[in-house]
Amino acid sequence: MRGGHQMKAFTQSVEDVLAWQGVSPDQGLTENSVVQRRAKFGPNLLEKAGGTSVLEVILHQVNSIIVWLLAGAAGFALLLGDRAEAIAIAVVLIVNFTIGFLTELRATRSMEALRRIAQVSARVRRNGSEYVVNAAELVPGDIVLLQEGDVVTADMRLITSTGLRCDESVFTGESLPEAKETFALESDTTLGDRVNMVFKGTAVTRGHAVAVVVATGMSTELGHISDLVRSAGAKVAPLERRLNRLGHKLIWLTLGLAIFTVFAGLARGHALEEMVQTGIALAVAAVPEGLPVVATLTLARGMWRMASRNALISNMPSVETLGATTIIMTDKTGTLTENRMAVVRYLLSEGDVRIDRQNGHHFIGQAGRVDPAVSNALKKALQIGVLCNSASTSGDTDDTTLLGDPMERALVEVASTSDSNQAQLRRTNPEIGQHPFDPDLKMMATIHAADGEYLVAVKGAPEAVVPRCTHLINGAGNISELSDEDRAKWLSRIETAAQEGLRTLALAFRQTDAEPDNLFDGLALIGVVCFRDPIRANVPKAVREARDAGVRVIMVTGDHARTAVAIAETAGLVDGDIRVVDSNEFGQIDLDTVSDKQLKEILETDVFARVEPATKLSLATIFQESGEIVAMTGDGVNDAPALKKADIGIAMGQRGTDVAREASDMVLKDDNFETIVAAMQQGRVILDNIRTFVLYLMSCNVSEILVVGLAIGFGLPAPLLPLQILFLNLVTDVFPAFALGMGQGDARIMKRPPRDPSEPIVTRGHWALIGLLGSLITVLTLVAFAIALFWLNLDTGAAVTVSFLTLALAQLWNVFNMRASDSPLVVNEVTQNPYVWGALTLCLGIISLALWLPQLSHVLKLQDPGFAGLCLAIGLSTLHVVLGQAILRFDIPRHIQQPHLTGPI
Ligand code: ADP
Ligand code: MG
Repeated sequence: MRGGHQMKAFTQSVEDVLAWQGVSPDQGLTENSVVQRRAKFGPNLLEKAGGTSVLEVILHQVNSIIVWLLAGAAGFALLLGDRAEAIAIAVVLIVNFTIGFLTELRATRSMEALRRIAQVSARVRRNGSEYVVNAAELVPGDIVLLQEGDVVTADMRLITSTGLRCDESVFTGESLPEAKETFALESDTTLGDRVNMVFKGTAVTRGHAVAVVVATGMSTELGHISDLVRSAGAKVAPLERRLNRLGHKLIWLTLGLAIFTVFAGLARGHALEEMVQTGIALAVAAVPEGLPVVATLTLARGMWRMASRNALISNMPSVETLGATTIIMTDKTGTLTENRMAVVRYLLSEGDVRIDRQNGHHFIGQAGRVDPAVSNALKKALQIGVLCNSASTSGDTDDTTLLGDPMERALVEVASTSDSNQAQLRRTNPEIGQHPFDPDLKMMATIHAADGEYLVAVKGAPEAVVPRCTHLINGAGNISELSDEDRAKWLSRIETAAQEGLRTLALAFRQTDAEPDNLFDGLALIGVVCFRDPIRANVPKAVREARDAGVRVIMVTGDHARTAVAIAETAGLVDGDIRVVDSNEFGQIDLDTVSDKQLKEILETDVFARVEPATKLSLATIFQESGEIVAMTGDGVNDAPALKKADIGIAMGQRGTDVAREASDMVLKDDNFETIVAAMQQGRVILDNIRTFVLYLMSCNVSEILVVGLAIGFGLPAPLLPLQILFLNLVTDVFPAFALGMGQGDARIMKRPPRDPSEPIVTRGHWALIGLLGSLITVLTLVAFAIALFWLNLDTGAAVTVSFLTLALAQLWNVFNMRASDSPLVVNEVTQNPYVWGALTLCLGIISLALWLPQLSHVLKLQDPGFAGLCLAIGLSTLHVVLGQAILRFDIPRHIQQPHLTGPI
């Protein structure tokens, strides 16, 4: 059924294709045949299912420098006949391998699971009913319902097409949408001209259709080129790349030091065997092996946390970008507001009519109650609101549940309160044609058959509809001409309503005997309907939070400027006057033609009103070129280019189309502005955690190298033995570092300005801090060693135990030096991190065992340090925290404070 046959689907008639696939378009496949076909054809996926295997993870872990170094060290020990040493190294190797393996496995698994949540779905007909299924579950023969905004999820032959147009630029490079038909084509028709087919990976930009699946997964046209797609999709996170680069820098630096130490030791008369093993142990300290894996794990954990707060990240590097975002360009309706529309007022030629919901539903005019049966204008307004409407009822009666856009539903709801029988209205005026809502025109129209005549019903933004109206209907039902003066009066009435934050929509109609061709000409204005769409409760708080975090919030809306400003005020976008640009008056915002003066004005604007989707792309570009990192929301097909262009494209999970979702980096499951700010905070926390983790591990490792290097350089015996170094590095360092990576973040993380995206993970300030903290541990450890040797007169073995303990404990306490320098001394993100306390307890337990469990202490060559030695180690290691806090007081800029570039926030 696949391969050769599929090539022919476009040459056959609809009937033949259906017969070949063995399916009826009304019923769809049965449960059984779906199961059979899935077994035969496999899931509708481009990659082989399963993801990374356990074996691949094992191989990746085995194939690392550390493993080879340790294996080399163990081999060397065996060669010299030191069985115990070899076994000990093998144990360290196994422990390290296990930790690495589990971490990496967890990281890959959770990344895969995250990817699964983000998968697209498809609407299918099976067993005679409609279902929404995961696109991976489609099989050949499935009957799929397509509509505007859908992403096509398999190759399909069209059965019916109502004005269907698809963007097939993935294949053809052509950005003009293809109009789709259902008739059979010649067998030599090229892919780009197969107008009776739709292909996986393309997008429906207009209309709707029913189609039958003829190819899935790797058999689709996209599958044939999917190697291309895959390589484009598998972006290495820049963060990982940077961590790798950092790692390489470190390896060379510390390997140099290790080699120097070995030669210095040999020159000072240490044994070759001891020195080679010390060198290897130091080299192990030098390799920041766990960095990329732990970074991935931290990212994955953070992404899960975001997902649980309704923000799905579909593009991993975006986590980093989120923390650096300087501007959020947001929609108004549904993101800042609740998108729970209610009609509150009609502006009619006879005056304003408001709706009293207190005592039932009443229409109240200037002179008291207005009866729609008496006022022709009100009656007409209610009728057109019902007819020119894309909400659908699931049944024929009025009281069944309504589906569709809240504004459309509000129009149906308000009409149902009057006597008019909607079902009958729809029956006597059946819809025979439609011009769906066009965000560029800001209008929609429907054509109805009415007693042998044609009725055109129009609704849309007043500033789009009113100028096209030539007539006006009054309360008595008379139709008069509309003068320019009248039109101006109407527009100012609308302005007044918009100032109250009401969303306005003009209603118009036209009755003709001939089938109308231009739907938006010669209209008679009925009036304007005003909706209240309350702002979401937590939006002002979230806007405040964003502003405190140095992030500007800019509203970009298709709505009226006055409405937009009223909402912007309630949301608290800015403190002073809101600067607004009305695209209609400002003129097209176009990159190529915009003047410097206009550019300046644009950059200072808080609200962009009456914006067309294409303008969003220009706005994103303009702000990016001025150095901003732009997060932008969108929901429609036309928003996709802007979502792709923005640094963070944010699609709406509820309102949004699949196309917008695919173009975006993040999907808001709840469409809520608050979620953007929460995700931003998480983005900052994740990056901070990775940074803290790096900082911690590096200051610990530096101290190990310096302690051994300096002691040997000064002609002292080695204060740490090779196995002890391995033990510290691969067992006790790891847990506090992981714990730091799990932190919830600094409470004031959203009080800082955004991170400069070009700033490295480890800045100069960080290097200084690493150097200082590492040196401090080194000095304290050497002092402990010297006191133990020369003052307490311990023998070398016991003195080594003292220096080992001092170093081990100082490294543990070093976590407390990892707080942000401007955070409180006692209650901060480190002390409030339960994982830190868990890790400390665990490590203290392990160290105690190493000291007092004879088998372990024998292998690690630890001796009883005596009471004085123990106190010395505890005292000097504690001193590390005290002095460390003093270092923090110097306020080395851990979090670089980049002055914010654009104007007032
Ligand atoms: P927003 O940015 O608030 O989502 P839109 O771009 O959706 O604004 O809408 C802009 C204007 O277009 C609205 O103020 C309204 O007047 C009009 N409009 C929106 N949806 C429809 C529709 N379904 N039918 C007719 N007009 C609409
Ligand atoms: Mg909208």
